[in-house]
Amino acid sequence: MPVSVEKGNTVQTFARPRSMTEARSTYCPGCGHGILTRIIAQTIDELGIAERTIAIAPVGCAVFAYRWYRCDSMQVAHGRASAVATGAKRANPNLIVFAYQGDGDFASIGTAESIHAANRGENITVLFVNNQIYGMTGGEMAPTTLVQQKTTTTLEGRDPRLTGYPIRFSEMIAQLEAPVYVTRQALYDVKHILEAAKAIKRAFTNQVEGKGYSLVEVLSTCPTNWRMTPLESNRHVSEVVTKVFPLGDLVNRG
Ligand code: SF4
Ligand code: MG
Repeated sequence: MPVSVEKGNTVQTFARPRSMTEARSTYCPGCGHGILTRIIAQTIDELGIAERTIAIAPVGCAVFAYRWYRCDSMQVAHGRASAVATGAKRANPNLIVFAYQGDGDFASIGTAESIHAANRGENITVLFVNNQIYGMTGGEMAPTTLVQQKTTTTLEGRDPRLTGYPIRFSEMIAQLEAPVYVTRQALYDVKHILEAAKAIKRAFTNQVEGKGYSLVEVLSTCPTNWRMTPLESNRHVSEVVTKVFPLGDLVNRG
């Protein structure tokens, strides 16, 4: 997986993927978005698809996602990334189109677009970043917020009697007949980062091979709004979040 670059007599083992720009990151320290960005850029390099890839950026902390990749991109209205990805792919099926969406974007504001793109089996790749909170707008409750989790709109903790339970959106999509690949991954340690990278490559490869709709949900961290250190955040995902959102493949019709 590492990209090796020879420099004189030395070999640089970890280099910036060619498909990742040098634009300065706007993500907070310890946030999973940065790791995921690198994995995606590396995948684009490995598959040699940069010239025909379009990144669809959402609204949320990844609103500037169009800055990070050396490929074409679009920044779209909140929740509509899967719909716009559908349009781009149908207009030019030779393109490789991926939608990058957070939990508020994908599983709440864009519920209809997300489910129907999956149900139609659009030949696109969707990255769904689940950090159980609305990050950019100030840490409000998201559809995936855990029971009892404190957010700026659930100051006493999420009470399911008032606001329902965390939605396992990938499980909902896995009930549909069309999706070929639905999986939930995490980034809290090296082993899981490598597994997530493998899943993301698989999801892009499915599209290259014309197999249909692939969804990779990634359990990510939001140290800033969780009021945790990056280390505490990773431990929280490993020990608490995965109990509510179990890791692994939900659909694999490769
Ligand atoms: Fe990441 Fe949270 Fe910062 Fe957004 S607010 S960049 S999700 S840590
Ligand atoms: Mg979020």
